[in-house]
Amino acid sequence: MTPNALPDNPLLDFSGLPRFDTLMPGDVQPAITTLLAQDRALIERLTADDVAATWENFAAPLTDAFEQLSRAWGMVTHVHSVNDVPEWRDAYNSTLPEVSSFYAEVGQNLKLFAGYKAIAEGSEYAQLSTAQRRVLDNEIRDFRLSGAELPAENKPRFQAIAEELAQLSAKFSENLLDATNAFTETISDESELAGLPEDARQAAREAAERDGRTGWKFTLHMPSYLPVMQYADSRRLRAAMYRAYATRASEFGPEALDNSPLIRRILELRREQAQLLGYDNYAEVSLVPKMAESVPQVIDFLQDLACKARPFAEKDIADLRSFAFAELNLATLEAWDVAYVSEKLLQARYAFSEQEVKQYFTEERVLTGLFKVIERLFNVRLKPDAAPTWHADVRFFRIESTDGELIGQFYLDLYARETKRSGAWMDEAIGRRCVRQTAAATAAPGDIQKPVAYLNCNFSRPVRDADGIARPATFTHDEVTTLFHETGHGLHHLLTHVDELGVAGIHGVEWDAVELPSQFMENYCWEWSVLQDMTAHIDTGEPLPRALFDKMLAARNFLSGMQTLRQVEFSLFDLRLHSDFDPAGERSVLDLLAEVRRQVAVLVPPAWHRFPNSFAHIFAGGYAAGYYSYKWAEVLSADCYGAFEEAGDPFDSPTGQRFQSEILAVGGSRTAIDNFRAFRGRDPQVDALLRHSGMITND
Ligand SMILES: [Zn+2]
Repeated sequence: MTPNALPDNPLLDFSGLPRFDTLMPGDVQPAITTLLAQDRALIERLTADDVAATWENFAAPLTDAFEQLSRAWGMVTHVHSVNDVPEWRDAYNSTLPEVSSFYAEVGQNLKLFAGYKAIAEGSEYAQLSTAQRRVLDNEIRDFRLSGAELPAENKPRFQAIAEELAQLSAKFSENLLDATNAFTETISDESELAGLPEDARQAAREAAERDGRTGWKFTLHMPSYLPVMQYADSRRLRAAMYRAYATRASEFGPEALDNSPLIRRILELRREQAQLLGYDNYAEVSLVPKMAESVPQVIDFLQDLACKARPFAEKDIADLRSFAFAELNLATLEAWDVAYVSEKLLQARYAFSEQEVKQYFTEERVLTGLFKVIERLFNVRLKPDAAPTWHADVRFFRIESTDGELIGQFYLDLYARETKRSGAWMDEAIGRRCVRQTAAATAAPGDIQKPVAYLNCNFSRPVRDADGIARPATFTHDEVTTLFHETGHGLHHLLTHVDELGVAGIHGVEWDAVELPSQFMENYCWEWSVLQDMTAHIDTGEPLPRALFDKMLAARNFLSGMQTLRQVEFSLFDLRLHSDFDPAGERSVLDLLAEVRRQVAVLVPPAWHRFPNSFAHIFAGGYAAGYYSYKWAEVLSADCYGAFEEAGDPFDSPTGQRFQSEILAVGGSRTAIDNFRAFRGRDPQVDALLRHSGMITND
């Protein structure tokens, strides 16, 4: 495969939809090198001028240039995610360092920072649009948080901290992975497998065979660990696996893999970094670009949620204990019994099988149902459309206004493939904006460039039956919910009305509010009228029976009190670690965790449990002092859906229009709290979330 000559390089063609049909791995390096050189030259030119920076001569050309790079690189990362064959992996990995270092360089470029600041502080600022002002404010905020305003003598230290933190985070996840891999449990006596489903046994047998052994091998990876905890009748096996899992990367294992010293160091460095920036602690820094206003506000929110969930959680635990005692002959409910007893109680209370439900969710019916929901809610039309794609299974659609005007387009890549990254996600191909120059865009100057999104899932593809006849793909209810979730992200991107790329759609939306549209859409998977319309049994064509739906509904909130308290416990622990906890002080991280648990938990794990050592979200991911975001966004999405419930119709037209115009259309051009207030007419309230989770008794 010879790459395209540079003028024909599809990554450098911004005139229309991505040209997946002609794109070659060999196109990546030359295209990205060209764009990086162009961007560097532009930055050089813009920051060398003595001319005062204005929106037109500074911010706008930078937006154009950065857009080209992010569109081209976005196409590469997309193909790398959906077609991870060796040639593409090489093309991606060999170019990634150049791209990362370019972005790091831009983030540290003080002349760029000065340019943005000059516009923000000049007389032009007042004349700019709200969206443009917000783009500038965000740029300046991000430069500040990456240390741009520090006195020169503090900068090297700040930089050194950032680098050490990156290394520590990487080491934290490496240790965790190595510790996860270090443990295996091989069973030779089949009677110890009692209770385990056949597929879990099969996988364990194959795992042992790969080691050249007989018997059944279990590991601490989820697909192996979880079925044991849920189904294995052997309490010895569950206890052994649980202990190994709970003590990963701790002092109970090899010293080289112990994450305890890393945790302390990470917390110390984050605190030092925050103090260099003029804040008391890292949680304050983390909240600057978020919707939540202050640490006490988030702590109050979490404590309030804990209070409300507590009686339900206590009942959950009491139910589990009495069921364990009466039905399973377990005198005590140990930590390694919880998942097992929960599963048994779930079956006893709401017996129905996921497989049974799945027969009703056939692919075309689900898609038609989803599209109808979108059309009714937002007064738009969805139609099949054509575009070059990366795989024959990928479909392409357009969203139009009722009078036929194009609003946006999206790819839908539903099925799992070996070369596709796992999970489900939405990504953008093209963002909405008003176009300044033709070379960079899919539209003429002054025109609106229409947004394009990728929706990706990993569902099972259609199969042939025993007679070789093709059967439609069927999805579990969870999968359908996932599809609605990702579509919600997609609509946030596609239905925006904002003309400035930097704050159109999802761009610039606060991290703790970004899940609002996605979780909002999930509600429609629980509406009886929607489900009736969205289901047709694969053999009989019958819609989902009401009796089955009632069972699903009853099981929906199973143990939700307990689960809520667990999330609150993790969130409070995270927030307090990064605010009032002193990493250099006498108290240990485990002391703090114990204190948080005394406040909120109904189920306290054994003393040897080392939860912090595997809390990768906050020590190796981007969730430090941000784990609360899950619950925070859930309050917002549930409360928004509550507006439809109050109107008495999930498709209430004025409410749908308002959700579109005040939340989806404005995207990041306004703060999330202003969007919310404009839609709901008040501040967020937790009641709808409690009601949806079955945690309100009086209605
Ligand atoms: Zn999401």
